[in-house]
Amino acid sequence: MEIIIDKELIEELLEFARFKHPNEAIVLLRGDIKEDSISITDYLYPPYGFSNRSSAGFPTHMIPLDFRIVGTAHSHPTGPNTPSIVDLHNIYGRLMVLLGYPYNINTVAAYSKNGEKINIKIID
Ligand SMILES: [Zn+2]
Repeated sequence: MEIIIDKELIEELLEFARFKHPNEAIVLLRGDIKEDSISITDYLYPPYGFSNRSSAGFPTHMIPLDFRIVGTAHSHPTGPNTPSIVDLHNIYGRLMVLLGYPYNINTVAAYSKNGEKINIKIID
């Protein structure tokens, strides 16, 4: 399993993380699910999303019924792009992308809903 993401799209997510810093940024990812990969196509800002320095979230009952939502991406302003315990207990959808400080391609990581790290393929 790997996720495929456009370079431009990942740059936009990183830009959003920088904009929200020092608070966390969170978005819903939409994509196409294939047998062995998920292609991220676009993202949405979650309705009534909230964030502070150590967490970000949204009321899940406010999420539009959208079968193309495959997971979430959020930033970690304090650094590591490894999931916190809270993250692992709150994975929404099939995958979670973490944007670690200082927000560049090397600090992006993706995890499956089981908490396993998954490969990110960035395409130009
Ligand atoms: Zn987190």
